[in-house]
Amino acid sequence: MTSSEIRQHFLDFFRSKDHLIVPSAPLVAKNDPTLMFNNSGMAQFKDFFLGNGTPPSKRVADTQKCLRVSGKHNDLEDVGFDTYHHTMFEMLGNWSFGDYFKKEAIEWAWELLTEVYKLPKDRLYVSVFKGDEKDNVPFDQEAWDLWSPIVGEERIILGNKKDNFWEMGDTGPCGPCSEIHVDLRPQADVDAQPGKELVNADHPQVVEIWNLVFMQFQRMANGSLEPLPARHVDTGMGFERLCMAIQAKMSNYDTDVFTNTIKVIEELSGKTYGGTPREYADVAMRVIADHIRAVSFAIADGLVPSNAKAGYVIRRILRRAVRYGYSYLGFTEPFMTKLVPTLAKQFDGVFPELIAQQDFVATVIREEEAAFLRTLENGLKLLDKITAELTDKNETIINGETVFELNDTFGFPVDLTALIAREKGFRIDEEGYQNALQAQKQRSRKDAASSAGDWVELVDDNDGVSFVGYDQTEADAQIIKYRK
Ligand code: ATP
Ligand code: MG
Ligand code: MG
Ligand code: MG
Repeated sequence: MTSSEIRQHFLDFFRSKDHLIVPSAPLVAKNDPTLMFNNSGMAQFKDFFLGNGTPPSKRVADTQKCLRVSGKHNDLEDVGFDTYHHTMFEMLGNWSFGDYFKKEAIEWAWELLTEVYKLPKDRLYVSVFKGDEKDNVPFDQEAWDLWSPIVGEERIILGNKKDNFWEMGDTGPCGPCSEIHVDLRPQADVDAQPGKELVNADHPQVVEIWNLVFMQFQRMANGSLEPLPARHVDTGMGFERLCMAIQAKMSNYDTDVFTNTIKVIEELSGKTYGGTPREYADVAMRVIADHIRAVSFAIADGLVPSNAKAGYVIRRILRRAVRYGYSYLGFTEPFMTKLVPTLAKQFDGVFPELIAQQDFVATVIREEEAAFLRTLENGLKLLDKITAELTDKNETIINGETVFELNDTFGFPVDLTALIAREKGFRIDEEGYQNALQAQKQRSRKDAASSAGDWVELVDDNDGVSFVGYDQTEADAQIIKYRK
């Protein structure tokens, strides 16, 4: 089954269950001060759950472009190092706004996975919320009673609040959820260790594919829970992971969602994907194949790389990919831009906004890349010089002013400097950098008129973006995690 067929079957299935199929909201969240990017299928329906609007139908389904690189959901660090977290991904979802509840949601999920997609039943596990006395939330007996005749008690995992209870915020709608996990390991591995033990354990082949959220409570300001008069269902399934499961691959990047792009990266670099997982060239190809999607669709949805807020997040994602391409695949000329046509063609008919604007998107990316490649080269030379001097002096800390200058003059994000420094056995002076940054902010406060669009202004200055970027993670530990 191709990825297009997989997506289509999802939509057709829920259409046959009387759902209205709606388009994806843009990647960039509009009119929501609390959110920079859409990071789940439900984001565009939030108002309906809060009672601030009427849905176009009580049953809705779609595929939503999601981006998890900021705020509560930030998976960027894992991207490229693991094989199942992306920056941008599609979340397939079905919703009930005060209509059907757990019974239908559970039975339909099972029917779709096992009868339409024909996933083997003995490779699926489901989780049920076990309750939390401290927080006054009960065990989800109802979900347990519905799941046990379907999957058998031995395939149910009792989950904690972190994985199996969803809350919109400190107050508001909330409820337990049931996740569906799939075990894709070779049979010998399954025989050696039950998949049940590996659920939620960061195993690359025992992964969560679908989350069914059952909104049935209202969290009050005093912390108590009241039953909601109208109960809702909100589900989200990772499309790329679903494709991995159905196409029986070991990694999302081995599905036809990514193979076209990886093939072009191979041609451009003259290197082959799928050497040993430890090799940074493979990590780099995954990073690039992933990031080009996030950057291209963000631009197609109206964002441009910039120095502010959401635009800055996109700029940094693009630079992260360029830096990997430069360091591990030998790209010294713009290459990301050359991936756009392949992507645009692949998503024609699904997200047509990309093919409609592909020349513009490719141009923005090319210019951004060209500029960064120049500064990357100059900055790397400067860093070489600095570290050589420090070595002469027997020192290992790069001072904050220098880190600031690398950022200000050469466009090196501080986390990139930190990463390169670490690779060379140095550290950066974080505090000194912060001081230099604050001093500069003071200087430029007066002419702080922002160049960003309206909606970006809604997001808090620094802290709307918690961008972990290059920190800690690009260390061997992550690759080892991947190999596990
Ligand atoms: P995980 O535990 O794997 O990080 P999650 O519990 O954070 O996933 P949910 O918020 O429940 O994910 O989102 C619903 C579904 O979206 C998940 O079951 C998964 O299939 C998919 N998903 C979540 N994050 C990503 C991501 N970064 N890349 C690809 N798919 C994702
Ligand atoms: Mg997650
Ligand atoms: Mg999870
Ligand atoms: Mg989940």
